[in-house]
Amino acid sequence: MKRVSFEDGIIYSFRPDLEPVTTARSGETVEFVCQDACGGLIRSEKDTLESLDLDRVNGATGPVRVMGSRPGDALRVLIRGIRVAATGFQSIAPKVGVLGDEVSRPSTKIIPIRDGKAVFSKSIRLPIHPHVGTIGVAPNEGSWTTFYPGDHGGNLDTKEIAKGNAVYLPVFQPGAQLAMGDIHALMADGEVCVTGIEIAGTIRAQIDVVRGVHIERPVVETMDAWIAVASAPTLDEAARLATHDGVALLARGARLPWDEAYMLASIACDLRISQDVDPWRTAKLVIPKSLMRRLPLR
Ligand code: CA
Ligand code: CA
Repeated sequence: MKRVSFEDGIIYSFRPDLEPVTTARSGETVEFVCQDACGGLIRSEKDTLESLDLDRVNGATGPVRVMGSRPGDALRVLIRGIRVAATGFQSIAPKVGVLGDEVSRPSTKIIPIRDGKAVFSKSIRLPIHPHVGTIGVAPNEGSWTTFYPGDHGGNLDTKEIAKGNAVYLPVFQPGAQLAMGDIHALMADGEVCVTGIEIAGTIRAQIDVVRGVHIERPVVETMDAWIAVASAPTLDEAARLATHDGVALLARGARLPWDEAYMLASIACDLRISQDVDPWRTAKLVIPKSLMRRLPLR
C-alpha cells in the first residue's frame, strides 16, 4: 500500500499551486501518517496552546496528486481506518473556543488511550471514535491556512469523517492535491473548547475520482445518511449554505420539487454544528438515506 508521511510532505495552507509529494491512481488506498494538530509539540501538561508557533500547527500530510482528476470532478475519499497513538491531549486557552472569554489561563490535559477508550479521568472513560479533522484539496483561488475550513474542505472538524464513511470533495485543480491530518480520537459536535482529543495517527483512505460529479462543497456519506457540509465566516451563514446544499441533494435524491424537499428537510433532516471554534464555522444538514430514491450526486 502506498504510504505518505508528514516527514515526506506536510502543508500549512491549501493553495491552488500545491506541489504533490506523491501520486495515486483512482481506486488506490493510501496511508497518511499524521502528526497531531500541534505538531507533536504538546508533550506534557506544562505545554499549552500559548507556547506554540502557530505557523507550525494543524499541518496536513500530503499533498497527493490523484491521477485523472480534473476541475469539475469530485474526489471520493473513503476512510477505511484510522489508527491512533497511545496518548492524546486537549488544550484550552483564553480567547479561543466558544467560552474563550471565560478561560483565565491556558491549560492542557494529557489523555491516555487504553483498550479503545479515552481515559479522561479515573471514573470517565469514553470509547474513542477517531475522525479526520482536516481534509482538503487545492482550492479554486486564494491561500487558506489549514486552520480554515472552506469549499475545498480543510479544517472541517466534522466527526462523521470517520471509518467506513466517505467524504466527497470538489476538484478545483488538476490532480486535486489531497492532504489530511488533525486526527481526533474523539470529538463532539461543536468542538466547543477548541480541541477534540488531538492525537497523532495513520489514516487509511481509498481515493476515487468521480467523473463529472459537480459539487460546490464537501458532502459526507455515512451508512445511513448524506450530509451536506458548509463553512462560512459565521455559523448563521454556514447553516444557510448547508441547508441550501442539503435541500438540493434531497430534492434530487428523493425526486421531489424543491418546495417539498425544503418542507421535508424541516421535519426529517437535522441541521447540526460541526464546529463553532475555527476561523470560519462549519454546519451540516443530515439527510437520512431512507428518504432517497436514487443517488443524490450527479
Ligand atoms: Ca481542527
Ligand atoms: Ca484539532
